[in-house]
Formats: sequence, structure tokens, C-alpha cells
Amino acid sequence: MAESKRDYYEVLGVEKTATDAEIKKAYRVLAKKYHPDANPGDAEAEAKFKEASEAYAILSDAEKRKQYDQFGHAAFGEGGGAGYGGFDFNGAGMGDIFGDIFGDLFGGGSGFGGFTRGTASRNGPSRGANVRTSVRISFDEMVKGCEKSVSLTLKEECPTCSGSGAKPGTEKETCKKCNGSGQVTYTQQSIFGMVRNVQACPDCGGTGKIIKEKCPDCRGLGYKAEKKTLSVTIPAGIESGQAIRISGKGEPGVNGGQRGDLLVEVYVAESNHFERDGMDVYTEEKIPFTTAALGGPIRVQTVDGQIEYDVKAGTQTGTKVRLKNKGIASVRNKDQRGDHYMILTVEVPTNLNNKQKEALEAFADTMGDPHKKKGIFK
Ligand SMILES: [Zn+2]
Ligand SMILES: [Zn+2]
Repeated sequence: MAESKRDYYEVLGVEKTATDAEIKKAYRVLAKKYHPDANPGDAEAEAKFKEASEAYAILSDAEKRKQYDQFGHAAFGEGGGAGYGGFDFNGAGMGDIFGDIFGDLFGGGSGFGGFTRGTASRNGPSRGANVRTSVRISFDEMVKGCEKSVSLTLKEECPTCSGSGAKPGTEKETCKKCNGSGQVTYTQQSIFGMVRNVQACPDCGGTGKIIKEKCPDCRGLGYKAEKKTLSVTIPAGIESGQAIRISGKGEPGVNGGQRGDLLVEVYVAESNHFERDGMDVYTEEKIPFTTAALGGPIRVQTVDGQIEYDVKAGTQTGTKVRLKNKGIASVRNKDQRGDHYMILTVEVPTNLNNKQKEALEAFADTMGDPHKKKGIFK
């Protein structure tokens, strides 16, 4: 599909059979080499870094790797061209990867924000973290699109202190460690040389203020954990592993910042009848050899239900038949649909009775079969 996109295994320089440890090791080497912090202003290195990161994001995830092995780049969005397909490159997932790979090299920053390190929560409002969850749907639900409810525990602003964390009626005082700026700076030796780190102040958590008397209701946290059930609309045609973003349903922001987003990863169960390839589906249809020879109707299960299809007389085994617009809807436009390809397999009977044998032998005689010369071995 995506002509310009390199194979993920090739990108990381590993075999298709590589273990998780080998993949991780290969990525670590590339990430160190091409990391933008080590190659400031080098666009090519940045592109290589992104390419390797994308490959690692897929191949380090068992589910996504399976998808990729089966469908290639097509598994993660049509065309694949520029995009990171359906998954969210800057989302929590990448944060996990970087946390995992780089450990505390960057002071355990809370994610992957562009290429500068340090979460730099200034005193002002900062956006809440994205929350990631997943849901499983059946193949049929994928075909039609569906509504799913997801339950998760979300942080909600404490009503008693309106999220400030301070006991109502009390004032906060300016943090002495950061003088109210909310940030602390320090330098650190890393694999890329000396790195200047800007981090949220550990004393005040980046708010610049210290709570003197904590809110009794949330014990100074400013939020409470609440179990929520949300309804998620899943569009028809979604690919397994793609995520749906519900904006403003993540964690609350700090100091009046926006809420983060909720990312719902959707996993689609495989069908035991249909093989999916992007928007197209494939099925194998077994037809009796008499139908293949004489032509006739067969019943075919499509994603829309059963239809009758007229097999042409003289159909050979392996014939591919296209049922136009009987495939899967585009996730972007439900009126646009792929096709259903049937591979017709002619079945030859194995247990003929005498009457059937005679009928076929009589038939063979009429054909003048060159392999069947009577009396040749007599
Ligand atoms: Zn409170
Ligand atoms: Zn502080």
C-alpha cells in the first residue's frame, strides 16, 4: 500500500522473528543515535528518529505487531503515507515507551512533549493528562458501527475546594523552593552529554503555591476519583488498534487548564468467515463441480447478510469474483465501501456410488479425454 513507507523490521534492522528484547535493543540504539537532543536542527535525524519510534511503537506491542505482520502498514490506516495511522503518536502510549526506554535519563518526565525535555509546568494553567482505555468489539459490530459503554475511574474536580486543594476560607502561600514560578532547573549528565532539565517543582507540584490547610474532603489533592461510564460511538470500518479520541474526557487540568482527552483503543475480533484487507473482505466459497461446469446459483454470506450469486457455467477453481461495494465502509465516510472478493473453489466428490461413476464415465467418453484411452494397458 504505502509505497514510500519502509518495513518496520527493516527500519529497526531486525529479523521478522526478533524477540521483544531484540526489538527493544535495536530501537534503543537507533533512538540514541537519532534523538533530536543529540542532533539539534538535523531534520533527517529527526525523521529517522520518528520512523524508528513509530516502528518500535508497533512492534513492541504484541497486538499491533500481530496486526502488522498480517496486514502490513495497511493495518494502521489507509495509505499510511504521512500518518501514524490511527494511533496517537504523542499520546500516553508514547509516554510509556519513553519512560520505559529512557528510564530516568530525563528525570522521568511525564511523557513525550515534542522534543524538549522536562514537563515545564509553569505557574499558569496546564492541560490535564490524556487517559487511555480500550474496548473490544466483534467483527459484526465493526461492520455496522456501534455504541459501546466504557467504565473507567476519572479524576473529577473536588466540589468542596473547587479543585484548589485548600480548605475553603484559607489562603495558599507562595512556594519557597521555586519562589512561586512552579519550575526548578538543574543540569544532568546523560547519554547526550550535559542536559539542562526544567522540571515541575517537586514541593508545590508546579503550581507555585503551597497549601497551608488541606481541603478535608480531598485531602489537598483538589480532585476525587470517580467511576464513570461513558458511551463511545465507534464508527463502522474501524481497524483493530485504532483509537477514538474523546476530547475533554481525560484528567482535569492544573490551575484552570483544559482537561486532557480520553483515547479509546478499539480491538476488533477476527471473523471466522471473512478475511479483511483494508476496506475489502475475502471469502472462500466452495462450489460443487457440477455447478462449476453447468453454472447455477449459490448462497453467499456477505457482511450485509446472505445473497444469491449465479456462478457462470465453466467456472474454474480459484476464480476470483468481485462483489462491488459489498466490503467494509470507510471509517472516514460510511458511504464509501470496499469490495467483497470471493475465491471460488471447485469441490470434486470423493465417494461416488456406482450409478454416479457410470454417469461420469459415460460423460468422459463424450469428451474424448486424451488421458483415458480404452484398452491402452490391455
Ligand atoms: Zn477539595
Ligand atoms: Zn514550588
